[in-house]
Amino acid sequence: MGCPGGPFLINKSLFYREENVCMIPENWDKAAKEHQKAYKRMLEKGNKNKMLKALPDLHEEAFSKIDCLQCANCCKNYSPRFKTPDIKRIAKVLRMKEGDFVETYLRLDEDNDYVVKRSPCPFLAADNTCNIYEDRPSDCRRYPYTDEDVLLKRVPLTLKNATACPATFVVLEKLLEMEGKRP
Ligand code: SF4
Ligand code: SF4
Repeated sequence: MGCPGGPFLINKSLFYREENVCMIPENWDKAAKEHQKAYKRMLEKGNKNKMLKALPDLHEEAFSKIDCLQCANCCKNYSPRFKTPDIKRIAKVLRMKEGDFVETYLRLDEDNDYVVKRSPCPFLAADNTCNIYEDRPSDCRRYPYTDEDVLLKRVPLTLKNATACPATFVVLEKLLEMEGKRP
């Protein structure tokens, strides 16, 4: 999933290879695992107002450099929750009865939420596009929550996303840099 010659850490700063769209940091997941304690400390004890204010720009910057179509880690490994409005909307667009849609694609998880029966998501196409993109579940629209206060409020989720999503890794690294806490 890495990008050879892509972004790398040097002199405690994140550098990106700007000349093409292959922007997923090589070994980013290893760095994300190594920095879990630093992320946790920062998210729990850092300046929350300052971090919240910085999130929209950091989110924009991360997603302007990382191409989700080269990644699709989230769609390949995790399931969104399919809430009732999601099920109604998607079943309608697929011209299926809601019950048939649920029976074909979904199961209840341990939190009693509907999720896909198995990963990768059945709506993920071979080129990493989403077959129901316009109507995808709300969770898919919001993931990885890097422009929401969820990033600070749900620390365990953010820590997990840091190792699953390179954009989350980049945002957390930038926050660490901003707080002067890069390990
Ligand atoms: S894991 Fe993150 S970077 Fe990868 S496709 Fe999902 S949102 Fe995009
Ligand atoms: S519905 Fe689309 S965006 Fe959501 S996980 Fe499946 S393929 Fe990815």
